[in-house]
Amino acid sequence: MDNTQVCVVGGGPAGMMLGLLLARCDIDVTVLEKHGDFLRDFRGDTVHPSTLRLLDQLELGEEFAAIPHTKVQAIDSVSVADGRRAVLGDLTGLRTPHPYISLVPQWDFLNLLAEAGKREPRFDLRMSTECTGVIHRNGKVTGVRTSEGDIAAQLVVGTDGRWSTVRTSAGMRPYEIPTPSDSWIFRLEHPEERLGTLEARTLREQTLTATPRRDYVQLAYRAPKGLDNRLRTEGLDSFRERVRVLMPEFTEQLRGLETMDEVKHLSVRISRLRRWFGRGVLCIGDAAHAMSPMGGVGVNLAVQDAVATARILAKPLRDNKLSPRSLALVQARRYLPAVVVQGIQRAIESRTDHRGTSEIRGPWKTAVNFLSTRPTAMARLLAVGLQENPPPPARR
Ligand SMILES: Cc1cc2nc3c(=O)[nH]c(=O)nc-3n(C[C@H](O)[C@H](O)[C@H](O)COP(=O)(O)OP(=O)(O)OC[C@H]3O[C@@H](n4cnc5c(N)ncnc54)[C@H](O)[C@@H]3O)c2cc1C
Repeated sequence: MDNTQVCVVGGGPAGMMLGLLLARCDIDVTVLEKHGDFLRDFRGDTVHPSTLRLLDQLELGEEFAAIPHTKVQAIDSVSVADGRRAVLGDLTGLRTPHPYISLVPQWDFLNLLAEAGKREPRFDLRMSTECTGVIHRNGKVTGVRTSEGDIAAQLVVGTDGRWSTVRTSAGMRPYEIPTPSDSWIFRLEHPEERLGTLEARTLREQTLTATPRRDYVQLAYRAPKGLDNRLRTEGLDSFRERVRVLMPEFTEQLRGLETMDEVKHLSVRISRLRRWFGRGVLCIGDAAHAMSPMGGVGVNLAVQDAVATARILAKPLRDNKLSPRSLALVQARRYLPAVVVQGIQRAIESRTDHRGTSEIRGPWKTAVNFLSTRPTAMARLLAVGLQENPPPPARR
C-alpha cells in the first residue's frame, strides 16, 4: 500500500493550494484528482484580491499576471424593468495591492498551482485517480481507497467539493440551506470585451451575467429551481428570447447557439457541515460548506480555507503531533467566514426569490440592506474577507 503524510482528495482550488503549501513546508502530500485534466468549464473564474496577494506571497504573482485575464473593479446589478443600476461591490477603494477581481479560466489558475507543485519534491499530484472512500481502522480514518489502489495517510483532507466522497464515507452529513435558483451556463462566440465592471441584469426571478473569456463570452442564466424541463420543452427559440430580453446586445451572437445541449444546467446548492473533522479526517472548501455562485466568491473562500489549514497543521504534522484539537482549530478559524458569506449569498438571492423558498429574516437581511448602500464595504467583505497568511516556510 502507498503511504503519505497527508492525502488531499480533490484537485480543485482548495486541494491544489493545500497540496502546494504543505509540500513547501516539507510535508509529504499526495493530491488525488479524478479527472485527467483541469479543463472543466463553469467552475468559477474569479480570482479575488486576497488570492492575488497570496500568489505574490508565494512568488507566483508574476506567473499569474502573464496569464491573459480581465480585471473587474465593480460588480453592478441592472434592473431590466426600470433600468435602475445598483453597484453591489466597488473594489476601487480597497487598500490592497490588487484592488480588482481577475477573471481567469479556472483551469489556468489550477495549472499554475500544479506547475508550482511539480517544483516541490514532496508534492505528488495524481490525476485520473478517483477516491472511492476512506479507510477506517479502530474508529479512525487511516487512508483512502482509490481507483488505482489504497493509500495510507496520517491525515485525509476532503477537498472534493459539494458532493464530497470523503465526507460521506467518513460519516459526515451536511445540512442543506434552502436556495431558490439554479444556473444555466453557455457560451457565445464573438466576444464583446467588457472591461471594468461585471454586470448582472435582473428581471423578476431571472438574472444573467456575462463573463468575458479570451475567445468567447460565458453567460450564466439564473432562474428558479425546477425550470430545466420547461426550458428544454419550450426549446431554443424561447431560451434565446429569455436571454435577449435581459441582454439585447447579444441578439446577433445568440444565433450561434445551435441547440439546447449547449446550455448546461448546474444545480446550485448551499450546505454546511456542523463539524468539519473527525479522527484522521478534515473537510474544507465546498466539501465543508458548499457555496452558491452568488458574488463569485466560493473559489476565494476555498483557497483561504487551504491557507489557514496549512498554517495551522504544518507544525503538528512535521512534529508528528497531529491531534483532533489541531483539526478543530482549522474549523474554529474558518467557520465564521463561511457562515457570513453564505448568509450574504442567501440574503442577496432571496431578493429575487418571489416564491419565498429561501426567505431570510432578521440580521442577515438587515446586514445586506446596510451593505448594499456601502459597495466598498461589501467588496471588502466578499473579495477580501478574513485574509489568511501562508505558513512562513511556504513563502518565497
Ligand atoms: C454554477 C456555479 C457557478 C459558480 N461560479 C463561481 C464563480 O464564478 N466564482 C467563484 O468564486 N465561485 C463560484 N462557484 C462556487 C465554486 O465553484 C466553489 O465554491 C469552489 O470551486 C470550491 O472549491 P473546492 O476546491 O472546495 O471544490 P471544487 O472546485 O468543487 O473542486 C473539487 C475537486 O475534487 C475533484 N473530485 C471530486 N470528487 C473526487 C473524488 N472522489 N476523487 C478525486 N477527486 C475528486 C473534482 O473533480 C474537483 O476537481 C460556483 C458554483 C456553482 C455551482
